[in-house]
Amino acid sequence: MADFINKGITAWNKRRERDGKPALKLWVIISKNPIDRARHATDQAKLIVGHKSWTCNSSHMTNSARHVYVTFNGKSNIVWNIDRLKSRIGSNEFAFLISLYAMGMNRAGLYNFKGSRGFLPNSKDPYHVELPQSRMEKADPQITRCFAEYARLTRIDGKTRNTEFEKIRAFRKFIVDFEARLKTSMP
Ligand SMILES: [Zn+2]
Repeated sequence: MADFINKGITAWNKRRERDGKPALKLWVIISKNPIDRARHATDQAKLIVGHKSWTCNSSHMTNSARHVYVTFNGKSNIVWNIDRLKSRIGSNEFAFLISLYAMGMNRAGLYNFKGSRGFLPNSKDPYHVELPQSRMEKADPQITRCFAEYARLTRIDGKTRNTEFEKIRAFRKFIVDFEARLKTSMP
């Protein structure tokens, strides 16, 4: 996917050069950060507490997701808010980039963070791409492990709750039992 997008940008810059337009120094990179690749249940829970994730059933936990970042003006300047690029590179260029990214995802058969097709540039997790059907079964013990770690962090360690995450039905069930057990175990 990244190769396809980068080749597309190179070809596009060649056309721009012919038209006397400046090349755009855009690039995409696949994150090498281990947390953006395979992820343990306890690390997933920490990310939920940090409002970086909103699920205990992430494709990262089956090592089936990656982050493909857009960078600007060199390889290390990751564009965290892709919307900001619109004013910097121009709306035609921006539209091209968006469609190229979407095409790259589709060609590679990759899904977005919602587990569906298509690039979601204005979402809270635009650069997350995952393999289709790569989430765990609902009964997977990793999910329970993640719930338990999140509950420990927020109910025992006093970390701030992630209200959006806590709307998940399976978690609501889990936390009722967890809090009941916590009460009975308190002196
Ligand atoms: Zn991700």
